Amino acid sequence: MTVRVDHAVVSGTFSLDGETFDVDNNIWVVGDDDECLVIDAPHDVDAILAVVAGRTVKAIVCTHAHDDHVRVAPELRERTGAPVLLHPDDRPLWELTHRDHLWDADLADGQSVKVAGAAVTVLHTPGHAPGAVCLYVHDLGCVFTGDTLFQGGPGATGRSFSDAGLIVESIRQQLFALPDDTVVHTGHGEDTTIGAERQALDG
Ligand SMILES: [Zn+2]
Repeated sequence: MTVRVDHAVVSGTFSLDGETFDVDNNIWVVGDDDECLVIDAPHDVDAILAVVAGRTVKAIVCTHAHDDHVRVAPELRERTGAPVLLHPDDRPLWELTHRDHLWDADLADGQSVKVAGAAVTVLHTPGHAPGAVCLYVHDLGCVFTGDTLFQGGPGATGRSFSDAGLIVESIRQQLFALPDDTVVHTGHGEDTTIGAERQALDG
């Protein structure tokens, strides 16, 4: 198994409900020397392509459709020919950013996306956004949580289309079912582990 994770951080803005914030987003790329998946498409297509480093992009997988995670998804699709994948429950958020084009294929809970001989399992985790998903890679012992789980707890639920009760239910049912030593790669900020966040939330 030669599958690995590559990473960069890009800066930009997040806007919702008439407010705009400066944010740093993680770019995550999972693959081997030949092919990869790009997880989220924030702010800067050239920064993402620098991490891709010439490999074939099999898909652009969006953890959710807040504008700081999907802003350059159509442009990245154009540059790579890769389809954009999104859970359909995030359509209202997607349409706030991209009125002229939809994504290419729907993500569904339990779906497996293959890359470089590894399976990436889609976990539907509504709460931060209705169509939020986490992406579990058993072979790497890691999960990409987008804005659903951060170092220090659940993602924000104070804005439109979020649900504070639901995010905790999603984390308990879907993420806390994973092994404690699973590394959590988040949408913003530092890594954590499932065990550390279980301890923080449930004691
Ligand atoms: Zn978000």
